[in-house]
Amino acid sequence: MSKSAKKGEETVVCVNCGSRLNTLYIQYSPGNIRLIKCDNCKAVADPYIECEFMIILIDLILHKPKAYRHLLYNMLSFKSEDIKGIIWKSALLFLLLDAIRVFLLKRYNDDYGNSSLLMPKCREVFLDVLLGNIVFIVVLLLGTRLFVNCSLTITSYLEILLAVFVSSFFKVYLVAMMVWEFPSAVLYIIEMFVLSSNAVAFRVSTQQEAIRCIGICLSAHAAKFLRLLVAISITVFFFSVILFTGNS
Ligand SMILES: [Zn+2]
Repeated sequence: MSKSAKKGEETVVCVNCGSRLNTLYIQYSPGNIRLIKCDNCKAVADPYIECEFMIILIDLILHKPKAYRHLLYNMLSFKSEDIKGIIWKSALLFLLLDAIRVFLLKRYNDDYGNSSLLMPKCREVFLDVLLGNIVFIVVLLLGTRLFVNCSLTITSYLEILLAVFVSSFFKVYLVAMMVWEFPSAVLYIIEMFVLSSNAVAFRVSTQQEAIRCIGICLSAHAAKFLRLLVAISITVFFFSVILFTGNS
């Protein structure tokens, strides 16, 4: 049984329809539980509770929304006192893996040339990761604000960020690329997989149509690759808004 399944008063969801529930199972004695059925869809609310993590991982790789609901709502806590700590940890891991991606991309493109100095390489990677991800998050949140048809609170935005960070788990395969030689195309295949995984997690978090979720995630990823152009556009846009509101 998944040890991280929630019970008691914590808010959990039915992985089939996304309805909020108070509990996923009733425990009669250690190891003796009964899974709760969802009142809305009448199915077992979270059958993943009795699955090994490997099964959940396979379903995550297969992009099953049920597995994402289990991971995001029933394994990770979205309680306000916990969410910030979980987001910080997942954000740090996300940035670290992205730094590996940038490093590998530069190595494949031979951007370092004959330079063997460590500091300039690290500074370049750091600035690339910082700028790329600021642009990524700004475009993602702007897209959410403009195109998601539901009431959004600060917690909703944090949930979306957490969903995107966690659903980028496939980037962990970049570590293998640091050790073994792979064709550079693998880097782009991983990026495509991360994009589709982000779109599924985004859809689970916002309950919007698939095409809208794909569009928002695709825009954020595209903006990351065109970071300099997008950063200048966003800066000009914000300065224009400030000047316009100041003059009116
Ligand atoms: Zn249900």
